[in-house]
Amino acid sequence: MAPGVAGLPAAERDVEVAGPVAEFLRSVSPRVLAQLRLGLRAFEWLPFPRSFSRLDAAGRERFLQKLARSRLAFKHDLLLMAKVFSTLGYAVTPQVRGAIGFEISCGLADGSLPEPAGPLGETTPPEGGEECDVVIVGSGAGGAVAAAELAEAGLDVIVLEAGDHYNRDNYPSDHLDAIAELYRDGGLTIAEGKPPIPVPVARVVGGTTVINSGTCFRAPEPVLEEWRSRYGVSWAHDLDAHFAEAEEFLHVTQLDPERMGRNGQLAMEGAAAIGASGGPIHRNAGSCVQCSSCPFGCRIDAKRGMHVSYLPRAVAAGARLRAGVEVDRILLEGSRAIGVEVAFSGRIEGKRQPRARVRARRAVIVAGGALGTPELLLRSGVGGGQVGRNLHIHPACWVGARYPEEVRGWEGVMQSFYVDQWEEQRILLEATFTPLAFGGAWLLGAGRAHQEAMLDFGHIGSIGVHLSDESAGRVGLGNGSLRASYGLTREDAGRLAFGIARAAEIHFAAGATEVYPNIPRVGVLKPGGLAEFEAATFKPSELRLEAFHPMGTARIAADPPEGVCAADGSVNGTEALYVADASLFPTSVGVNPMMTVVAFSKRVSRGIAAQAPAAASV
Ligand SMILES: Cc1cc2nc3c(=O)[nH]c(=O)nc-3n(C[C@H](O)[C@H](O)[C@H](O)COP(=O)(O)OP(=O)(O)OC[C@H]3O[C@@H](n4cnc5c(N)ncnc54)[C@H](O)[C@@H]3O)c2cc1C
Ligand code: SF4
Repeated sequence: MAPGVAGLPAAERDVEVAGPVAEFLRSVSPRVLAQLRLGLRAFEWLPFPRSFSRLDAAGRERFLQKLARSRLAFKHDLLLMAKVFSTLGYAVTPQVRGAIGFEISCGLADGSLPEPAGPLGETTPPEGGEECDVVIVGSGAGGAVAAAELAEAGLDVIVLEAGDHYNRDNYPSDHLDAIAELYRDGGLTIAEGKPPIPVPVARVVGGTTVINSGTCFRAPEPVLEEWRSRYGVSWAHDLDAHFAEAEEFLHVTQLDPERMGRNGQLAMEGAAAIGASGGPIHRNAGSCVQCSSCPFGCRIDAKRGMHVSYLPRAVAAGARLRAGVEVDRILLEGSRAIGVEVAFSGRIEGKRQPRARVRARRAVIVAGGALGTPELLLRSGVGGGQVGRNLHIHPACWVGARYPEEVRGWEGVMQSFYVDQWEEQRILLEATFTPLAFGGAWLLGAGRAHQEAMLDFGHIGSIGVHLSDESAGRVGLGNGSLRASYGLTREDAGRLAFGIARAAEIHFAAGATEVYPNIPRVGVLKPGGLAEFEAATFKPSELRLEAFHPMGTARIAADPPEGVCAADGSVNGTEALYVADASLFPTSVGVNPMMTVVAFSKRVSRGIAAQAPAAASV
C-alpha cells in the first residue's frame, strides 16, 4: 500500500507495518476480527485471478489506481479499509512522523506540569465478592460523576471498570499500542449499515473522557425544551447549576484564538469572511500547548478526564474503584437489582475467567456508555423492548482542504473553533485536526499518490461536519457480543452534504485551493465548483463517515413503552436499577455530549442519594 516515494519510506522494505498491525488486531474481539478478516480477504482477492499480495510492486500500484478511479462504492469501501489499516501501522512509525515533521509535545504553555491527580486507591479487585451500597458499572463521564456524588453523600460506592488504569505515568508511547490499550476493540466498533460507520469508544478507567478532545458544550436550550415537553425530562431546564459546577471543577476555559493553532484560525477567518456565527471552543485542558494528541491520552494529563478529576474525588470520599473488571450480568431478586456478576479482564483472549459477585444494598447504576449499557441490559434481560434502540451517533464527516501556506495542524488543538450558523439545519461545524494515524486514511489517492498526499500533510486543514441526527440505529447482541447497526436516511445524507458544502465554503473563503469532500464520486472540489456539488444528490452509501457520540440507547421517555428509563434514570419494570450515562438522552443532543452526560449523571445520582440517605445504610 505504501511503495515508498522520495522522502517517505516503503512499507515492509524500510519500516515494518504488517507485524505491528497484526499484533494490534489481537486487541480486537473475535466478532470484530471475523468481520475484518472477511473484508481484508475480499480486498486481497479483488484483483482475481491473482491475489493482491502476490502482485509485483508495479501491479499493485496499477491495481490501487484502478480502485481509486472506480465508480463502485463497495470497491471504495474496501480501498478505504485497506488504507485505514496500512496508515494505522505506517503513519505511527518514527520514520514517517519524522519525515512529515509530525511531533507530539504535550505541555502547558508556561512549561509547568499540571498538579498530580489524587490517588485512585487499590484498583485490583479482591478475591471473591464485595458488598457496598451502590455499585456503578463504568467509570466514564456518567459513572465517575455518579461515584463522586454518591460517595460525597456518604454512600458506600464501588465502581467497576472493564478497562485498565492509565495516566501520564504509563500511557503507551507507541500510538498503535495506545489505541489497542485505551479503546474498545482497538477503536473498531462499527455501526453496520450503508455506509458502515466507525463509532470508537474507550475502554479504560475514566472511559471515553481519557481519549476525547476535551471540548465542553452545554446542551442547547431548544433541545432541552424538547426533552422536557415531549419526553418528560421535567428537570431538563434546571441543569444550569450542574453545568456551572462541573465547568468550574473541570477548569473549563475558552481557547485563546492566538493560541488555538492555524487550523482553527483558518476556520475562524473563513467563517468571518462569509459572516457565519461561531467561536473558539471551550475546553477542560486549561492552558495546554495544544498538540492534537488527545486521542492517545494526554502525556501530561492536562485534559481533565474523569481519571484525573471526578474519580480521584470519588475515591477521596471513600469510593472503591476496580479496574479490569467486566460486568457480565445484573443480579435480580424478582424485579429488584441486588448487585452484579463480573468477570476479570482477559475475556477476549478466549480464556475462561474467574467470576465474582458484587452485591449492592441500595442500587445498581449502569454507566457503560451508549454501547456498553444496552449490551449489559440486554444480557441481563431487563428494560423492555426499547433497550438498544434509538441509537444516535452524530454522524461526522472529515472535510479536508489544501492550503498554500503551512497549517501544521498538529501544532494546534484538535478541536478548536466551532461554527453554529446552521444549527437549524442540524449542522455543527468544528475545526478538527485529526492526527495522521487516524486522519491519514482520509487523504486522497492510493499507493504512491496517497503517500505524496501524506508528505503534504502539513498543508492540510480540516473541518468536521457533525449532524444532529434524526436517523437512528440499534445496539443488539449477536452470539452474545455487541452488534451495532445504523440506518442513515436520505434526508440526513442531504443535510450532511449541505454541511460538507458549508465547510468547503469556509475553507475556500480562508484561502484553500482544493477541498476534499470525502465522497469518491466527487474527489476534489476546486474554487467555483461548489454550485455543481450542491446541485447533486448523494445516496447515504456514498458518504464516508465516522461518529464519536453514541447516545440514546436506554432513553428517557414520558410514555414508558417508548423508552427504557423514567425521568429519574430508573429502568422501567425494575427497582433499584438506574442508568446514568449518554444512553439516557431522548434524542440527539446536537453538540459534543460529555458535559450533558455529566449534568444528567449529577441529576440522577442526587436523586438516588436523596432516596437512600447514608444513615439508612448503616
Ligand atoms: C475520539 C473521541 C473524541 C471525543 N471528543 C469529545 C469532546 O471533545 N467533547 C465531548 O463532549 N465529547 C467527546 N466525545 C464523546 C464523549 O467522550 C462521550 O460522549 C462521553 O465520554 C460518554 O460518557 P459515558 O459515561 O456515556 O460513556 P464512556 O465515557 O464511554 O464510559 C463508559 C465506560 O464504561 C465501561 N464499560 C462499559 N461496559 C462495561 C461493563 N459491562 N463492565 C464494566 N465496564 C464497562 C467502558 O469501558 C467505559 O470506560 C468524544 C468521543 C470520542 C470517541
Ligand atoms: S492538546 Fe490534548 S494531548 Fe495535547 S497537551 Fe492539550 S490536552 Fe494534552
